Amino acid sequence: MPLTQILLSLVVPVFNEEAAIAPFLARAGAAIEGACRRVGPGTTYEIVFVDDGSTDATAAILTAARTQRSEIEVVCLSRNFGKDAALAAGLRHARGHAVIPIDVDLQDPPEVIEEMVALWMAGAVIVNGVRRGREVDTLMKRLTAWGFYGVYNRFADQGIASNAGDFRLLDRQVVDILNTLPERSRFMKGLFSWVGFRQAEVQFVRERRQTGQTKWRYWRLWNFALDGLTGSTTAPLRVWTYIGLTVAGFAILYGVALIGLTLATGNAVPGYPSIMVTMLFLGGLNLLSLGIMGEYVGRIAAEVRGRPLYLVRDVNGERARLPEQDT
Ligand code: UDP
Ligand code: MG
Repeated sequence: MPLTQILLSLVVPVFNEEAAIAPFLARAGAAIEGACRRVGPGTTYEIVFVDDGSTDATAAILTAARTQRSEIEVVCLSRNFGKDAALAAGLRHARGHAVIPIDVDLQDPPEVIEEMVALWMAGAVIVNGVRRGREVDTLMKRLTAWGFYGVYNRFADQGIASNAGDFRLLDRQVVDILNTLPERSRFMKGLFSWVGFRQAEVQFVRERRQTGQTKWRYWRLWNFALDGLTGSTTAPLRVWTYIGLTVAGFAILYGVALIGLTLATGNAVPGYPSIMVTMLFLGGLNLLSLGIMGEYVGRIAAEVRGRPLYLVRDVNGERARLPEQDT
């Protein structure tokens, strides 16, 4: 490591987590101090909380915590923008040489940070936290996760590890790159793998949520999955060319057969069922392909509008002026 003073940043998005903050600070604080000792004397840290438009006492608790611990930074967004946007805000604000996004609910065990930092010092630019199992998840969640990662990795240019969340260590080099990416619909996991670089991984067991409950309902997860897929693929758009060609090929064969049959039997109008079936089938295919196009077009519209990904209301109690220009 260079001789400059090393700064480590934790980036913690929080949304209505009043009960989770104190336990998080106790455990993560101890862990990051351990990590700092590991890096060497003079190493410092900051904990950047991004309040993602909480409506409970979260903001007040964070402000109070900041008066006791100067390592704490509080970025408040103007409303709830979602975890990925909150993370983006945190990455922009963090100043550390290594930045570690982590959940506040202690599902990502902070003790792993020390190991991540060790790998970082050994030269890894990204250290991925990989869950060893999904025992704490429901069967439904496991199945849907399995389905999503299967489809994603089949179609995306850069696959993602099926058990990695957002918990990882990012070197400043990668953080700077992520901060300059122009896209608005951000699927962080996809971006992390897209950037490449020397990556290492640390395995951990993802624990149950300590307090409160998850904000991910299935509808939200579904939309999250769509964002991920449309963000990194074009195959679902292009596949229709081939489906269309195949269907048209079959239609020609079928047409030839029908002509032959008519010539042979003289009866030109059999087959209400076959007409209904082909019509509904083709209608369905048409709507499906349109819908898929719509998913992409909608996202293009969002990109073209060019609205910022998030709006900062205040930073450490100071009112933010301009919308930050990364985004
Ligand atoms: N979170 C957020 N904005 C949201 C939803 C969640 O900042 O709109 C934060 C939340 O406070 C937590 C982290 O993202 O720190 C993970 O959320 P959660 O535990 O609900 O997700 P899960 O662990 O079930 O994937
Ligand atoms: Mg959680």
